[in-house]
Amino acid sequence: MFRDFIIGFSLGIIFLGTFAYKAFKVSAPPLTDASRVKFKVALQPGHYLVGPLPEELKGISQASSINALLFRRKEKRLALDLALRVKEKLELAGVEVDILPVQIPPRYLADAFVAIHFDWNLDPSVRGFKVAPSDFDLSSKSSQLALYLFNSLKEIMKPYNLVTEDMSKYYAFNFKKFKHSLDSRTPAVILEVAFMSSLKEINFVQKNLDKVAEKITEGILKFLTNSSV
Ligand SMILES: [Zn+2]
Repeated sequence: MFRDFIIGFSLGIIFLGTFAYKAFKVSAPPLTDASRVKFKVALQPGHYLVGPLPEELKGISQASSINALLFRRKEKRLALDLALRVKEKLELAGVEVDILPVQIPPRYLADAFVAIHFDWNLDPSVRGFKVAPSDFDLSSKSSQLALYLFNSLKEIMKPYNLVTEDMSKYYAFNFKKFKHSLDSRTPAVILEVAFMSSLKEINFVQKNLDKVAEKITEGILKFLTNSSV
């Protein structure tokens, strides 16, 4: 009788112990790789995945002339290639990366957003990269992101110092007008990597895509590490 009690008691302890252990295991936070991710960055290759767009975005990604149309295909290919290289490099540094299409998820929030485009000009001697911060930014960090990218890229490329309004007022930044746009707290820039109308410049970029991707990555990483509170 006493022996049965001892056995029953012991089994009870084991059962309760196992239950308590399982309960503890369930309530403990999962220790996955994702929990180590510190920063999230979004890259948007120019004109990527222009499918059927919501009403508010119709017309934003149409080429405005024959020349733009001719360059557009090449721009899309190069921008996507660059974005994927930057993504790979950022991920190696432990950063989570989203590649975003033209239609941005509504109020998209990240630690940094970089749109990657290429420009063209009627004058083939015009060349240089351009980087513009968002005019709508409420994070006050877009200018810093632009500066880090500018300083990094100018180590290997010539800058073009004129930035136009269609850059700083890029539709993805404009949360006041579009639902499919960035959250106002997302530091954001648009980068025009080179002028495709400059044979010299575009040849350089095509031959040095990985180097250009490396410089973009460096700029983003410096921004993330230096601007985090
Ligand atoms: Zn473009």
